[in-house]
Amino acid sequence: MKTQDRRIFLKKGMFFSIAGLTGLNLGLTTLTSKASALHNHLSYDDLKPPFSLTKLPYAYDSMEPIIDRKTMEIHHQRHHMAYVNNLNNALKESGGRNKSLQELMREVSKYGDAVRDNGGGHYNHDLFWKILTRPGTSKNPAGALRTAISQSFGSFENFQEKFKDHALRRFGSGWAWLVVNDRGRLEVGSTPNQDNPLMDVSPFKGFPILGIDVWEHAYYLKYQNRRSEYVDNFWKVVNWEEVSKRYQALTSR
Ligand code: MN
Repeated sequence: MKTQDRRIFLKKGMFFSIAGLTGLNLGLTTLTSKASALHNHLSYDDLKPPFSLTKLPYAYDSMEPIIDRKTMEIHHQRHHMAYVNNLNNALKESGGRNKSLQELMREVSKYGDAVRDNGGGHYNHDLFWKILTRPGTSKNPAGALRTAISQSFGSFENFQEKFKDHALRRFGSGWAWLVVNDRGRLEVGSTPNQDNPLMDVSPFKGFPILGIDVWEHAYYLKYQNRRSEYVDNFWKVVNWEEVSKRYQALTSR
């Protein structure tokens, strides 16, 4: 086992221990601490600076024909890499070097625009890569998440429509999100640029469990100005099992 793999293995083990404990401590565990446990599980190699580029659990051509290989490659190797490098450089100037990525997001107003833009860029892309799966392997949400989607939005189809609406109405660059809010309920919304719903500066708040990148760099090579078609196709590559894991870790009792 490589050192990196062992670290991931240990962190995952720790997460499941924490998840087990929270089950025994009803009412004592806040959503925030669950979110921390979840975050540690999902971003295990990104606990503290210096941050590193997320390793993709698939090849660049895996999302063909929905997201083309060239877009995936440039998006990951150049755009995401630049956010990571710029974030690490910004943290040398602005303090916050002993903070986790999630902590930085929650108090991002303390650290200035470079940490906001590049920290958000790192957090958002890290999540985005993890909630994608090969076309043909994507299954619709099931279980508790499916039920919660129906309760919050009426139906899965209504949810998809509302989410798409946020993705299309976000003028210029940004993200649309499905979040668990501080009352444990699902909500959809969007943020500009590389902001996200964890940030203290964001009017739309919650813990993101699904996000779509609607920057042109995410779709322009294949879809040009057709953001609507990109969003419709996005559903074919959503890893709902991963989204469900996030939902369950945040809401389990
Ligand atoms: Mn992007």
